[in-house]
Amino acid sequence: MLFEKSGLSEKESFFDMNLRVLHIVEGTSVDGPGLRTSIYLAGCNHHCPGCHNPDSWNPQGGEERTLDELMAVISYNEAPVTLSGGDPLQQPDGTRALIRRIKQELGYNVWCYTGYTWEEIAANPKLLEVVQELDVLVDGPFVQAERDISLRFRGSRNQRLIDVQRTLASSDPTTPTTIQ
Ligand code: SF4
Repeated sequence: MLFEKSGLSEKESFFDMNLRVLHIVEGTSVDGPGLRTSIYLAGCNHHCPGCHNPDSWNPQGGEERTLDELMAVISYNEAPVTLSGGDPLQQPDGTRALIRRIKQELGYNVWCYTGYTWEEIAANPKLLEVVQELDVLVDGPFVQAERDISLRFRGSRNQRLIDVQRTLASSDPTTPTTIQ
């Protein structure tokens, strides 16, 4: 079942995973509503012209952090979380595990940025697993011709703020339900 929640049921799996992290910003208001903990993950092969942060493309960039280390920072801040980069979906197993731990252990709201479109994710079971428990996905590459500095929480008009849970619960989960 393409949209059924599955996988990573063994708790041990979560403790074995690390993520390569570029940096963590605590108390930021630019990556989603409210004051959030933003975690920037290394690695992105979308290579969008005009990318705000080409230094994030290297998958070996940043430093390796355990999930326990990241959970400690998130828990200390008692704030919603945004995963950005880079593209968090290019560290799929660790990102999936981190999202699950945040939701199950803390219940915080989680946003994630990606250069993939929702349609690409919906057609890829591995990527779809990663986003299963997200609240909001900001999808799609940065497109210079669509750049618009008036947009909230995104850089170009093609990018969408997708309500993941409403989309997955809809009769057609391949069509994203967006928020403003
Ligand atoms: S998806 Fe984001 S990080 Fe990756 S190249 Fe595009 S703008 Fe840069």
